[in-house]
Amino acid sequence: MTAPAPIPARVPAPVGLLAELTHRCPLQCPYCSNPLELERQASELSTAQWINVLDQAADLGVLQLHLSGGEPTARRDLEQLVAHAAKRQLYSNLITSGYGVTRDRLAALTASGLDHLQISIQDSDPVNADRIAGVPGAHARKVALAGFARALDLALTINAPIHRQNVDNLAAIIEFAVSLGARRVEVAHVQYYGWGLANRAALLPTRQQVVQSIDVVAKARHQYKGVVTFDFVAPDYYAKRPKPCMGGWGRGIINVTPSGKVLPCHAAQSIPALKFDSVTDRPLRDIWANSEAFNAYRGTAWMKEPCRSCEFKEADWGGCRCQALALTGDAANADPMCAKSPSHGEIAKLALVESTAADPPALIYRTPASAAGARSPTG
Ligand code: SF4
Ligand code: SF4
Repeated sequence: MTAPAPIPARVPAPVGLLAELTHRCPLQCPYCSNPLELERQASELSTAQWINVLDQAADLGVLQLHLSGGEPTARRDLEQLVAHAAKRQLYSNLITSGYGVTRDRLAALTASGLDHLQISIQDSDPVNADRIAGVPGAHARKVALAGFARALDLALTINAPIHRQNVDNLAAIIEFAVSLGARRVEVAHVQYYGWGLANRAALLPTRQQVVQSIDVVAKARHQYKGVVTFDFVAPDYYAKRPKPCMGGWGRGIINVTPSGKVLPCHAAQSIPALKFDSVTDRPLRDIWANSEAFNAYRGTAWMKEPCRSCEFKEADWGGCRCQALALTGDAANADPMCAKSPSHGEIAKLALVESTAADPPALIYRTPASAAGARSPTG
């Protein structure tokens, strides 16, 4: 390896590392943010390589470590990684499906220094939850894991991805999440990348359903004020302004894939023109500061109109590059969720047609076998 180049003053320090430890997962969620091309176990970084990544991240100024996947507990060395994160004073958050995590495993992770647990749920109704996860019995295992977390007094967030096939049950989902002991509930409308994009016609809620979901969360915030914190992620497709994707490209988050590729966001590999470096052949610090991929859309110099002259360009950073590419054909265009985008009207029409179709397509479940047939729709 060559010595790392210094970080230019214009490059901000990253605060978060999203470590996708593995793409293995027992569940098959049709909205999964993993790429359609899942990385195989044989290509995963070793324990020593991940520990080296954690060291490099801590040296770079990262404060929060999100241990994700796939299902991160599929890694038998997770306790070692958590212990090393604690040693380097990284705040560790385990993002899990909850499937297959026993009481003893959670106790071992907690003893290793785990700070926070995040369990995703598919619904409050066990039948619909298992149908969406694609695995019978998944829901019951999540309930059990939440109980283990309560017994260990481990800080718990419940994440509820919301879409057309559970949105009408949102009030019950929130009640259920609170009953599991969550002190933070994340109501996150599905983002349409990866598997979510491939399943958009089956998952996109109607505008009316989205409006109702906003109302349900507002009521819950009022009801649980001072007790439970609610985060709400709105679906892009009915917005007038895009979200600042990842807080801006290359501004705060580093995503490392199971094989060590370093990405500005988990969907970035959908932009084929970009080359992504790996921690196996370039220092993390150098990748963050100087790599082609991280600098491609960092800041505002790359922007075209209407973003270039827009008053919001340093608020939303032009929205999402992956979405701009998928729906307009050019990753440097304004995110078409923005009302100023020339493609916005088409997106609104598409959302109306797909969300109100009487006969939506069947779900494409996230399995390596179905990836080949999962055609990603565009605009
Ligand atoms: S979204 Fe579902 S399938 Fe994807 S990693 Fe999480 S639990 Fe597994
Ligand atoms: S024009 Fe670009 S910078 Fe302005 S609001 Fe739209 S996406 Fe954001």
